[in-house]
Amino acid sequence: MYRDIIKKSGLSITTKRIALLSALDKAQRPVTIDELRNQMTDTMDTSTMYRSLKKLVDAGIVYQTDFRDGVSYFELQGDNHHHHVVCTECKSRKSIDMCVNKNFNKVEKDTGYTITNHIFELFGLCENCSS
Ligand SMILES: [Zn+2]
Ligand SMILES: [Zn+2]
Repeated sequence: MYRDIIKKSGLSITTKRIALLSALDKAQRPVTIDELRNQMTDTMDTSTMYRSLKKLVDAGIVYQTDFRDGVSYFELQGDNHHHHVVCTECKSRKSIDMCVNKNFNKVEKDTGYTITNHIFELFGLCENCSS
């Protein structure tokens, strides 16, 4: 399964990439590098993880985001591309089933850039914190 995902993206299949995707898949939510390492069965140093993840992010397989707390989060989204809403008080998070317009044709035409991925998160107050 992970092999197919990697293959489809045009990247070469490596055991590192498969290990990362499988750990991200297990997490089922956005995780930091440290959290991800706890999910991994094989040991991998942080810089190797970052390098490999960056390739997967660039290839559009892994979603990289931040929730304004100074760390990067990674999530395997596969066919279930989505974003999140984050409470600025208690930092709780929910997945949301919406995306910015995925049609970036106009942007590409205007800028000459080929758009390969995007980050989009909403911030606000959750029900608990707003009452
Ligand atoms: Zn809250
Ligand atoms: Zn999106």
